[in-house]
Amino acid sequence: MNMKIDPWSALLIEDYSKLFEEFGILPFEDVLPEIPNPHRYMRRKIIFGHRDYDLIADAMNNKKPFSVMSGFMPSGKIHLGHKMVMEEIIWHQQQGADAFVGIADREAHAVRGIPWERCRDIGIEEYIISLIALGFEQKGHIYFQSGSQKVKDLAFELGAKANFSELSAIYGFTGETSVSHMLSAVTQSADILHPQLEEYGGPKPTVIPVGADQDPHIRLTRGLGNKMNMLKIERREDKDGRGYFSIRSKTAPPDAMKELQERIPGRSKLFEGHLDVQDCDDFEELLRIVREVELESGGYAFVPPCSTYHRFMSGLQGGKMSSSVPESYISLTEDPKEAAKKVKRAKTGGRMTLEEQKQLGGEPGKCSVYELLMFHLVEDEEELAQIYSECVGGQKVCGKCKALAAERMEKFLRQHQELREQAKDRLDEYGLKRK
Ligand code: SF4
Repeated sequence: MNMKIDPWSALLIEDYSKLFEEFGILPFEDVLPEIPNPHRYMRRKIIFGHRDYDLIADAMNNKKPFSVMSGFMPSGKIHLGHKMVMEEIIWHQQQGADAFVGIADREAHAVRGIPWERCRDIGIEEYIISLIALGFEQKGHIYFQSGSQKVKDLAFELGAKANFSELSAIYGFTGETSVSHMLSAVTQSADILHPQLEEYGGPKPTVIPVGADQDPHIRLTRGLGNKMNMLKIERREDKDGRGYFSIRSKTAPPDAMKELQERIPGRSKLFEGHLDVQDCDDFEELLRIVREVELESGGYAFVPPCSTYHRFMSGLQGGKMSSSVPESYISLTEDPKEAAKKVKRAKTGGRMTLEEQKQLGGEPGKCSVYELLMFHLVEDEEELAQIYSECVGGQKVCGKCKALAAERMEKFLRQHQELREQAKDRLDEYGLKRK
């Protein structure tokens, strides 16, 4: 079938174009052709934007090191929205990424007041067990923020580069905000940057799959990562229009600059506090040597984190999914039969009468059931295209469509919950223990 499925494009342009223009998020479709075997979220524009994902595509295509990292706040039930992020992490792990998953217990404790023990229980019972059941491989890293000295130390260092006005502009902090809440914000930046520490192989592109609302956090972390780098590289032009690189530092020891001059390709001139490099056409190699020298001189070296942005699922009843309204979402641990009933009660894009449905066709772009099929329950593009075309063409009735989605949801949850049982017995392989 040759039909183009693009039921979300209008919504995307309306809702998300501001992000592209204002904040420099780039459309994901530009980088899509470079991705070998893209995930269905990528093919279906559910992942709609990115920052620097070309670095990740390049790493995948050329077998260079890269990482994927994301975190979960242990505050409630694991639902299909969390599953999306987990699938993205696991997919990148399968493409060769070193994968990191952080349980944000510091944040849950500081912001929601959840006791540490409870954070640990929710983290393991809800999130980690499902993550393993979904296919997260043992070679990856799962950790609790409170249990990672590396993350806590890095958070402290990053805290020295972040100020209150910057944080309050992003998170709305006020004079009433606790210091621990602020610390939990820089801890999230430490989560994002720590895969690039020397013990994990040093600087490398790291992708953070997030929802569209998380971009301010990515921007903050990219800024902090840059501030932490001891050496800054700028591309400049001399008075004759010839390009060169200027490497500057306020803090690097003079020996480091000399060392750098010896190792880098191209002609270079050393001045006080900066080194100008001419005739260097291998920027990647230059960057690699600069990062190496930074680390050897006791500094930090980070590649600004890359990111992908996915659309949110809407609530089953329309509007937003909300953890305080169980009818609006499906949890991965709930009774599969009850979940199937929720699907049957979900809001559709169907018309008022069967007659109208036949005449005008349904509106899959406004349908929670179609969303479930597209996000989670149909892998095959042709099958999805057929559902879409039969819906808009008026050949499909909502009852049958709901029955299909309900049956698949029930089956998925049953299987997932069996895999969860197996995952419980494998926690020790990941260095974790239940209570
Ligand atoms: Fe939604 Fe299916 Fe009804 Fe179309 S036919 S509106 S996709 S439930």
